[in-house]
Amino acid sequence: MPAMPTPFRLGRLKMRKKYWFCFTWLLIISSHMRINIIEKSKKYKRMTISGYFIAAGLLAMTMLLGGCKAVDDIKNTHTSDTTMKELKTEVPRVEISDDKPASSDFSGKNKADNAETSIDDSFYISPITDEIFARIDGKSFKKDCTLSREDLRYIHVLHKDIDGNEHEGEMIVNMHIADDVLDIMKQLYEADYPIEKIRLVDEYNADDETSMEDNNSSAFNFRFISGTKKVSKHGFGLAVDINTLYNPYFKIVNGKRILEPITAEPYLDREADFPYKIEENDLCYKLFTEKGFVWGGSWKNRKDYQHFEIPDEIIAKWYPEFVL
Ligand SMILES: [Zn+2]
Repeated sequence: MPAMPTPFRLGRLKMRKKYWFCFTWLLIISSHMRINIIEKSKKYKRMTISGYFIAAGLLAMTMLLGGCKAVDDIKNTHTSDTTMKELKTEVPRVEISDDKPASSDFSGKNKADNAETSIDDSFYISPITDEIFARIDGKSFKKDCTLSREDLRYIHVLHKDIDGNEHEGEMIVNMHIADDVLDIMKQLYEADYPIEKIRLVDEYNADDETSMEDNNSSAFNFRFISGTKKVSKHGFGLAVDINTLYNPYFKIVNGKRILEPITAEPYLDREADFPYKIEENDLCYKLFTEKGFVWGGSWKNRKDYQHFEIPDEIIAKWYPEFVL
């Protein structure tokens, strides 16, 4: 926004105008008197004297009104300035809410002026501060976590559910993909792509099954691939799961069906019509794959419809010391 002139400058400018006006009056009166002195006419002298009193009266009124108006101007400018300050301090911090849509208390023009700014303000990346670390320590950031806390980033986003209600979202991802994930989330939000919940898995005590049953979208959750010393892609914060209930993981091992979450049976039929379904070539698929992620829905021997991950060969460059 362009810089506004200060109230005092504005007031002084108006005062100066009034003084010019008064000065002009004085010039008119003095030239009148001079003309009459030269002509030495009694009639003109009388007119000049009465003219002088009228002019002096007008001059006094002008100065009085001018002064008052200038003071009013200063007062008014102060008032509008105060109102602006009050409006700024009233900008709400949107609270994390389970079900209630995040809303803005902006109104009218102020809302329009600040709309772009407030959206940008809601999409940001932060290091793992002590406050954030306290939320994940011993949960998604397990005691045996081999990844450094400095390798992770906290992402704050907005997202919309299937009914168009707006929510705040939080996610922890690897620093290498933080910018890309933030950009994807912003584009999904702007396109009204429905995502029901984006909460830290720590709110579910870092239990994936509980988080998935709640259709939560998340990324970092440290763990080794069972029975190995391999860190899973989620353990690196290099895999993102979206709308997990409606986009389950499915595999058959030795004739036994593995379905995660266990409640996702109705959503295994990928031809059926239901909300939050990720499909090949939908916006979510496109945005993630454009950034180099691989979609688990494309895999042959297992399906992970919720899952987007960075391929091994890229991770090997970032983390050559890790077994992949
Ligand atoms: Zn996953």
